Amino acid sequence: MGRYSFPRLVREALRGNRGWEAVWRDARPQPRYDVVIVGGGGHGLATAYYLARKHGITRVAVIERGWLGGGNSGRNTQVNRSNYFYPASSALYDHSLRLFEGLGRELNFNVMLSQRGLVVLAHSEHELELARRWANSILMNGIDARFLSAADIKRRVPLINLHSRHPILGGFVQERGGISRHDAVVWGYARGASALGVDLIQNCAVTGFRQSGGRVTGVETTQGAIEAGSVVLSVAGHSSVLAGMAGLRLPITTMTLQAMVTEPIKPVLDSVVISAAVHAYVSQSDRGEIVLGGGADVYNSYAQRGNLPVLRATIQATLELFPSFSRLRLLRQWAGAVDVTPDTSPIMGLTPVQGLYINCGWGTGGYKAIPGGGDTMAATVAAGRPHPLIVPFALERFRTGSLVDEGAAAGVAH
Ligand SMILES: Cc1cc2nc3c(=O)[nH]c(=O)nc-3n(C[C@H](O)[C@H](O)[C@H](O)COP(=O)(O)OP(=O)(O)OC[C@H]3O[C@@H](n4cnc5c(N)ncnc54)[C@H](O)[C@@H]3O)c2cc1C
Repeated sequence: MGRYSFPRLVREALRGNRGWEAVWRDARPQPRYDVVIVGGGGHGLATAYYLARKHGITRVAVIERGWLGGGNSGRNTQVNRSNYFYPASSALYDHSLRLFEGLGRELNFNVMLSQRGLVVLAHSEHELELARRWANSILMNGIDARFLSAADIKRRVPLINLHSRHPILGGFVQERGGISRHDAVVWGYARGASALGVDLIQNCAVTGFRQSGGRVTGVETTQGAIEAGSVVLSVAGHSSVLAGMAGLRLPITTMTLQAMVTEPIKPVLDSVVISAAVHAYVSQSDRGEIVLGGGADVYNSYAQRGNLPVLRATIQATLELFPSFSRLRLLRQWAGAVDVTPDTSPIMGLTPVQGLYINCGWGTGGYKAIPGGGDTMAATVAAGRPHPLIVPFALERFRTGSLVDEGAAAGVAH
């Protein structure tokens, strides 16, 4: 695989761009792999990449029922942050952010990470107290956070309205937070994994599992049966459906989460702004679109389209913060099926079925965790025991009760 570089860009431009190779090989399924990963989203692809790159396990297939990145990894609002409350979450998400910080170079693919700062707003004395507690815990976890007064916020985000029905009293910022380009993350991992020998198989749905003596031995797919030494489930909103096929019941609720963008405008917003009280988060993409996200639709669904009431509520909330955006036209709206757990933390690691691993429950916030999730899952599969960073996120915690309840600390408390 040729390296991407500025000299190559110039050379190809002069040759009419005829020398570019395909970004990845479209593979046909082989009868047997050491590891089969179900789900070609960011987490599945990153797991495959790190299995090959760090552990030398290259007889790996990623099986995707649609196209790579067609699930939530290509539908999110691209927010990166590691401003979590509990030490276990901080450690995992900051590991991921640190990998993100070197990802462009690692993958030789520009993931367009822009650490423009992520501002969390507080709209009441009570919220201000919670924000202080949250920011202090982030600092104690060794991660950057800085408290902001209302005047600081106005200086940083001049278009913001401090005096709406929900006046802004202050907040805090994680300067290392920001956004990146979700498609580039998916394509970069796909390209890297494919170059290392991983088979990427699209338009192939897993329809069942082969098991023998309590151990998974392969998968049934729409393109035939495949034997596997280990199987990793990374199917986000479809986790409970797939796990059900293997005889496992997961504490996961699948809901629709939607997002939208306005028509592109010149740069007006150079921070990511989050308000849990009005329930919206807003950023401006590199193309100039204002990107809006809000709450999940409040019923179970596998539909990848959102409802009108939540769309309206998100727009309403955004206009509380930025009244001038009322002049913008909405360009696109879309949604994904997110996998929400009772404590809004992921489920990662081994399962009661031997050889079957799980990486799911990322819900509304797993994009930022793609490098960290992939890295720790690859180490887990290679060693056959959980990577230390994911021990607190085992499925077992729903039996023991030792939950990592990030619900209250999440940027937008879905
Ligand atoms: C609107 C929206 C906004 C979001 N915003 C953010 C954000 O700003 N920041 C953040 O960190 N997170 C965000 N998220 C969450 C984030 O996108 C997800 O947590 C993350 O992308 C999950 O990645 P994944 O690889 O686990 O799943 P996915 O990318 O969904 O990949 C799972 C794949 O499994 C495939 N699959 C399903 N069933 C089968 C089968 N039977 N056989 C084979 N393949 C199958 C699917 O087709 C899919 O491609 C957002 C999500 C949405 C929907």
